[in-house]
Amino acid sequence: MSLTTSPILEAVGLSKTYPSANQQLQVLQDISFSIQPGETVSVVGPSGSGKTTLLGLCAGLDRASSGYVALNGIRLQDQSEDALAGIRNKYIGFVFQNFQLLPTLTALENVMVPMELKKEKDIRSRALELLDQVGLASRSHHYPSQLSGGEQQRVSIARAFANQPKILFADEPTGNLDAETSEKVESLLFNLNKAAGTTLVMVTHDLELAAKTGRIIKLKGGKLVSDESNREVVTS
Ligand code: ADP
Repeated sequence: MSLTTSPILEAVGLSKTYPSANQQLQVLQDISFSIQPGETVSVVGPSGSGKTTLLGLCAGLDRASSGYVALNGIRLQDQSEDALAGIRNKYIGFVFQNFQLLPTLTALENVMVPMELKKEKDIRSRALELLDQVGLASRSHHYPSQLSGGEQQRVSIARAFANQPKILFADEPTGNLDAETSEKVESLLFNLNKAAGTTLVMVTHDLELAAKTGRIIKLKGGKLVSDESNREVVTS
């Protein structure tokens, strides 16, 4: 029963302020929600409403000013930088809007970077398998500059799956892509959710994409203004 499942992610009273010229800029204010394993969730809201900041806090890329994020019951706030890096590598995948691939490494090497397997041979074959899953086995020795935006995004998705994360965060995963490539990337994300049960949390301004997720969290001016199950998706 879903009622007895522990959340994979809990945000409790999250606030974030940044120092600005003569006052503190409050970017997020008292945000709370919890996400169950296997859910697909969109975070929507106007530009500047705090979506990217929220995703960064949830993924342990940044620390809250108050409140906390717990991942599988582990409070990220309480961890040292090293412990946090370990948790990120083990449980979390992150797909950045601008891909953030290392330009001096090939597609294959980019996917290999975060891998925790012991043997180089195993790392290489797992990375190739992931590139194959995103339809890029033939591009494995290309450098990011030799790949299209959609191909770079698919490499970044393969990299995000390097250690079979329990939860994948994606910041505008289709934001920089044309319609056809967006569709490919979308189905890749949803297929990985279905096949591996990976929890998917993505920021998007694309309401059609948001409508395909099971739940939509809406931010406005740094506050959570709605958090609703997407009935169409849930019942279909
Ligand atoms: P969204 O993703 O919804 O567009 P963001 O989370 O990127 O919103 O930004 C929310 C607000 O926080 C914006 O006003 C932005 O300028 C501000 N902000 C984001 N990062 C920083 C930072 N590192 N320092 C200062 N202000 C920031």
